[in-house]
Amino acid sequence: MNSQRISFEFFPTKTDAGHEKLLLTAKKLADYQPGFFSCTYGAGGSTRDRTLNTVLQLNSETQVPAAPHMSCVGDSKTDLRELLNTYKEAGIKRIVALRGDLPSGMGMAEGELRYANELVEFIRQETGDHFYIEVAAYPEMHPQARNFETDLQNFVQKVKAGADSAITQYFFNADCYFYFVERVRRLGVDIPIVPGIMPITNYTKLARFSDACGAEIPRWIRKQLEAYGDDANSIQAFGTEVITQMCEQLLTGGAPGLHFYTLNQAEPSLAVWDNLQLRKN
Ligand code: FAD
Repeated sequence: MNSQRISFEFFPTKTDAGHEKLLLTAKKLADYQPGFFSCTYGAGGSTRDRTLNTVLQLNSETQVPAAPHMSCVGDSKTDLRELLNTYKEAGIKRIVALRGDLPSGMGMAEGELRYANELVEFIRQETGDHFYIEVAAYPEMHPQARNFETDLQNFVQKVKAGADSAITQYFFNADCYFYFVERVRRLGVDIPIVPGIMPITNYTKLARFSDACGAEIPRWIRKQLEAYGDDANSIQAFGTEVITQMCEQLLTGGAPGLHFYTLNQAEPSLAVWDNLQLRKN
């Protein structure tokens, strides 16, 4: 697979040491010539400056185009407009547009835009076709959605509002991706839907995070990971194999690319990518 079809996601760090590590990771990943890097955004603007600085630095220091994530809950239109203009002036061409999850205590009413489709609409109104807009997709349903059907309809709204492409929440079962793609194609969606890939490195953290974001860890994977206990090497070896096999299935079945949730680490994503390169026909 052409490496331009892969992308890597980072989160902005709170410390200088963390930031240095992020840049080292990005430089290592840049050698593989991915299509783009992206950097997450703390809903409510909590990482506004750190996301901005990280994106600008990734863009200038790695030659890989960087895309900021931007969420709308808790941010005013004035703040979002200013941020869009800053990115535009800096030559940024891609944005991942999200609703975001506010930290507990901040109510939904505090932002002017309530859902990602409204943010996409706002970006188009403010900046026309300047940005290539990515949105989120949930093959296993967004955890707060009323049901799967309304979640599909809501996804379609984001596409109609002007999204160019989508990145999915991570999952561990390729069937849910294929079913989601088939369903939204029947609803007239023709944009690329790129699977989000979470390498497996630590069972406890993965289980906690997956519960929160609604990603199901199949029983056979959970049981095997539980059995490894603290044996990090076995967890990584097993995790790499499971994720490699799923990526092979996804690509063979027509997935247009892969978006890796790196958690600011190069090796787990590269282990999967190297395996895929070795096994390709
Ligand atoms: P939406 O598409 O707005 O959907 C949110 C919920 O509302 C869904 O249940 C949907 O069915 C429903 N809904 C949508 N539109 C409407 C409507 N018009 N009327 C009624 N109901 C509606 N979070 C961050 O805080 N920062 C990040 O950087 C970040 N990056 C992410 C990157 C990816 C690739 C993914 C998959 C998720 C990311 N998230 C991030 C998490 C995301 O913000 C949360 O999952 C959030 O709860 C939903 O965001 P969304 O953009 O999918 O929301």
